[in-house]
Amino acid sequence: METKQFKAESKRLLEMMIHSIYTHKEIFLRELISNASDAIDKLYFKSLTDDKVGMNKDDFAIWIAADKDSRTIKITDNGIGMTAEELENNLGTIANSGSFKFKNENKLDEDNQIIGQFGVGFYSAFMVAKKVTVVTKAYGSDKAYQWESEGVDGYTITEAEKKTTGTEITLELLDDTDDEKYGEFLDQYRIKGLVKKYSDYIRFPVKMEMTHSRPKEQSEEDKAANKPLEYEDYIEVETLNSMVPLWKKNKTELKDEDYKHFYTEKFYDYTEPLKYAHVKNEGMPSYNALLYIPGKAPFDFYSKEYEKGLQLYSNGVLIMDKCADLLPDYFSFVKGLVDSEDLSLNISREMLQHDRQLKVIAKSIEKTISSELKKMLKNDREKYEEFWKNFGLQLKYGVYSDYGMNKDKLQDLLMFTSSKEKKLVTLDEYVTGMREEQKYIYYAAGESIERIEQLPQTELVKDNGFEILYLTDNVDEFAIRTLHSYKDKEFKNVSADDLGLENTEKKEEIKAKEEENSGMLEELAKALDGKVSKVVLSQRLKSHPVCLTTEGDITLEMEKVLNSMPTDQKVQAKRVLEINPEHEIFGKLTALSSSGDNEKLDKYAKLLYSQALLIEGMSIENPVEFSNLICELM
Ligand code: ADP
Repeated sequence: METKQFKAESKRLLEMMIHSIYTHKEIFLRELISNASDAIDKLYFKSLTDDKVGMNKDDFAIWIAADKDSRTIKITDNGIGMTAEELENNLGTIANSGSFKFKNENKLDEDNQIIGQFGVGFYSAFMVAKKVTVVTKAYGSDKAYQWESEGVDGYTITEAEKKTTGTEITLELLDDTDDEKYGEFLDQYRIKGLVKKYSDYIRFPVKMEMTHSRPKEQSEEDKAANKPLEYEDYIEVETLNSMVPLWKKNKTELKDEDYKHFYTEKFYDYTEPLKYAHVKNEGMPSYNALLYIPGKAPFDFYSKEYEKGLQLYSNGVLIMDKCADLLPDYFSFVKGLVDSEDLSLNISREMLQHDRQLKVIAKSIEKTISSELKKMLKNDREKYEEFWKNFGLQLKYGVYSDYGMNKDKLQDLLMFTSSKEKKLVTLDEYVTGMREEQKYIYYAAGESIERIEQLPQTELVKDNGFEILYLTDNVDEFAIRTLHSYKDKEFKNVSADDLGLENTEKKEEIKAKEEENSGMLEELAKALDGKVSKVVLSQRLKSHPVCLTTEGDITLEMEKVLNSMPTDQKVQAKRVLEINPEHEIFGKLTALSSSGDNEKLDKYAKLLYSQALLIEGMSIENPVEFSNLICELM
């Protein structure tokens, strides 16, 4: 009997399979079941037009049988089978249908990823088997053939005995090692689990004889004597797969619970989803999708460990567990799946990334998510706020990242707490509620709402009867800066130099006062020795003596955020110390200045500056000096 050699590239693939990492090896079953299903498909289609086939749809099935004694697992189908020539062509070389290209010749890691996630076909059997035997009889042929191989050394093809049309593949599993227990693939529950995981939606039944145990019937005497139950094994044929995927069913057939139950089972989340959408797209590419917004952010959602992505199916067969390309980062919280007939099962990750169909699907999914969120915001405010609490941060990052490329898509989904009633409002609601004379959308940033409320800078804006948006997340101010404006209204930090609230008369008055006291203001600035760029008289302060504001692009909040990042570059906002000319302290300062007591004036400058820092929630540089100064001046 002649042993034939594999074609070079098949040999290479085979080697890759054999050395694949263990966690990916389980997909061999998916591959063999998919092949069996394809073979049945072919015969089934034939049967529709050709009575000679003599089979009904219900006659078709795939069988799995495991035998612990011989360490074999057998996959049998009654599909179209293969002729000797087909055996030679199909299993001696890599099928050309497999778009498997060896671009990553030397990158085993990459290869392994491909193996884990994409269709790699028949050869994957060698990931778990030391010997593979295929016995097959083609439809319409009266001869059967056996193909057998122990891996890279080659294969043999011989004539064989087989009564019925179809294919039977037997794997003799590799011996267990310390880390790799191939024997587990003989366990009926493990097999069932794998079928459920990867092949649940194969259109034909995948059947297996399962052994269960049940208590034996007890006689009345034994019962009366309270004898312990005896157990016996019995065998039952089970169909392991559910065959019709939920997402392929008609929406009208499905109930709310069906969708929710599917979610909790499939995505291991015990919290019910907040919302789901069932998409059936008949266009090109055609696809079905189930999309879910989780009820709670996963514990690792805001960490590097979190992996976004949707499950990707090609015609009911899982080809990728987390296809990241299907979701933009700002919608990374969405869970679900996409099934398309227009994607090939044998597609590598690299090719998938450039797949035009996939891009079109991703775009359309993004649109669906966005419109579902908008619907929720409009029709179910409570739910949306719940959503916002869990995932709002991600949307704000989305506005800020990629240089604001996606801000227009996201701006109407944003919410911030408003100074009025301390409730969440959208930007649209804010703008709609703006007073006629109001030029800007005002916001204030700080670490908590309580803190922001105490900021002296908010007083003037509030006194004018204007609403303020309170920004409490680190990313908030960056996102707002990226937006720059909403519906032609510019955003304005309440600490900005120009609030657009100028009362010209008052402005003139203050200017005059500043000129009058320019010597004192300069002396104060000098005392602060570069910590502030200037000291000015404030228009915005009402009851507070001082506050810190900033000039230029970087605000104090942004400074805090930027400096908390792990880089060496520290930034500093350009600070301005504002003094309330209506406050008693101003009188004190002018008195000191005119009496020429610069030493004391300098001390006041330091005190006031430290005070302003504290109000801003920043730490003071020298607490000991601060406390000594207080005592001294008291
Ligand atoms: P692919 O499934 O991508 O074509 P495979 O390596 O898995 O690649 O299979 C190669 C070919 O072998 C298949 O295209 C099919 O023609 C044939 N084949 C595999 N398994 C079976 C089977 N159970 N019955 C009939 N033909 C099969």
